[in-house]
Amino acid sequence: MTQMKYLLIIGDGMADYPVEALNGKTPLQVANKPNMDELAFKGRSGILRTIPEDMAPGSVIANLSILGYDPKKWYTGRGPFEAATRGIRLGKNDIAFRCNLITEENGVLVDYSAGYITSDEGRELMRCVEDNLGKPNEIDFCAGVRYRNLLILRNDSYSDDVLCTPPHDALGVKISEILPRAKTPAAEFTVATLNRMIFDSKRILEDHPVNVNRVALGKRPGNMIWPWGQGKKPSMPTLQERYGISGAVISAVDVVKGVGIYAGMEVVNVPGATGYYDTNYEGKADYALEALKKHDMVLIHVEAPDEAGHSGDHEQKIRTIEDLDRRLIGRLSRGLDEECAIAVLPDHATPIKVRTHTKDPVPFTICSPLIEPDDVKCFDEVSARRGGFGFLERGELFMSLFVAAE
Ligand SMILES: [Zn+2]
Repeated sequence: MTQMKYLLIIGDGMADYPVEALNGKTPLQVANKPNMDELAFKGRSGILRTIPEDMAPGSVIANLSILGYDPKKWYTGRGPFEAATRGIRLGKNDIAFRCNLITEENGVLVDYSAGYITSDEGRELMRCVEDNLGKPNEIDFCAGVRYRNLLILRNDSYSDDVLCTPPHDALGVKISEILPRAKTPAAEFTVATLNRMIFDSKRILEDHPVNVNRVALGKRPGNMIWPWGQGKKPSMPTLQERYGISGAVISAVDVVKGVGIYAGMEVVNVPGATGYYDTNYEGKADYALEALKKHDMVLIHVEAPDEAGHSGDHEQKIRTIEDLDRRLIGRLSRGLDEECAIAVLPDHATPIKVRTHTKDPVPFTICSPLIEPDDVKCFDEVSARRGGFGFLERGELFMSLFVAAE
């Protein structure tokens, strides 16, 4: 018997609450999605808690759960997952921080993205920060896309026991109230270093030509660095070690690729995959079919429904679900020539009404020749409640149902 193949399709933020404008139905219930419904019809459904109740509803945490990793054990922070994606190798005790370029005005944090600064400008500012504040083999700044940079502390005298504030949660707050703080005495030195660099960066960046130019054009300057989301790399067992399968991940979102990298998966980059409504659905399907020849499992992550949820646009959300269904899942199904188990689910909900991620458990369906179907006929939040898998309280159980059913 040939080894079973697995397709894991994640529609980011796809789950929702009933929407008034949709007569109390959810976008998943209203969308025309024959392929997802067929998978639910032939498969077995259930409800899954991907976000532990005491954790924040983010994509990294949810995707860890789905891939079988208890996020309480393996989620070490956003920084190390972004570092993995960027090809930055972390030593055992290295600490990776997300390091935003922000706008500070009269002692207040006014913009977590420095006016959505361009990557070219951001890179130039970060080069200046690196030249002035970096230290070889100890303090590294890595410029990224737009305002999203990284800071790596590589010295055993640093600690990750630091309380940092995500800058998007502190708009309009005084800098002095949200500076990094030590959780333990061992972190005092780290905090002193971070705070010194935050204030030094202001001095260095304030009159930088890039910022002088931005201000002259009425744009917000990137006049301060803001470290947060820190952690050491998680030393997770790979999917091969846990389930005896090899995997590939297809996503336009850095941190989702980061989860895949720590799980030992190959990152497959698809041209035109944007993480937005205009993403290359067909390309993702074609690359997934190709990757499936080499690997046992391919994870395909689509960000667009989450974006529609954040923008509060239910029509757009329905369109993203229909695109995912027709242009990706339909194309995949037609292209499969061997026995394959297919699972579809959101990582978390991003309801139209609240326009942000929530911790609500999500519907899932698994269609596999090895799994007995239930009588659920559609894929949505309500139908899945009657699914044969019931309610899985621990998200990491999903993977054992999906791949260990032989
Ligand atoms: Zn997500």
